[in-house]
Amino acid sequence: MVFSYLFISHDLALVRMVADEVAVLYQGRLCEVGPTRHVYAAPFHPYTATLLAAVPEPVPGRSPRALKHESSLGVVPAHGCPFFQRCPRRIETTCAQIDPPWRLAEGGHAIRCHLTLEQLSEPIEVLPLYASAPSRTAYDKPHS
Ligand code: SF4
Repeated sequence: MVFSYLFISHDLALVRMVADEVAVLYQGRLCEVGPTRHVYAAPFHPYTATLLAAVPEPVPGRSPRALKHESSLGVVPAHGCPFFQRCPRRIETTCAQIDPPWRLAEGGHAIRCHLTLEQLSEPIEVLPLYASAPSRTAYDKPHS
């Protein structure tokens, strides 16, 4: 007998424990899909990288980090990448106006982004997306 279920969570540490396949959505749009072992390894969609960085770490004295509330971002445009306003690696104009293509990695892993798989494998700065982070660093600096 095969048992299937749909499990929805922002806690990627928990998702990793229970899922064989993972689909990451941002504002209702798919941005990354694939087998769990591939989604939790580089390359990462910038939003997936943000969620992974939000996973609490059991470090004494370190405060939990929380994602900033998104209500101030307004309506997501019909075209372009839905993560554009928060992405530390966005390419101005391209990411804002053109729907990102699917980049196909190994084993059924796919990422929807204008960056190449090589670029998506590089570490990125995600701290500015957290409520406790400094007001600006790489978040306001678009990828060129
Ligand atoms: S680089 Fe562009 S397409 Fe990729 S996640 Fe950032 S804004 Fe979206």
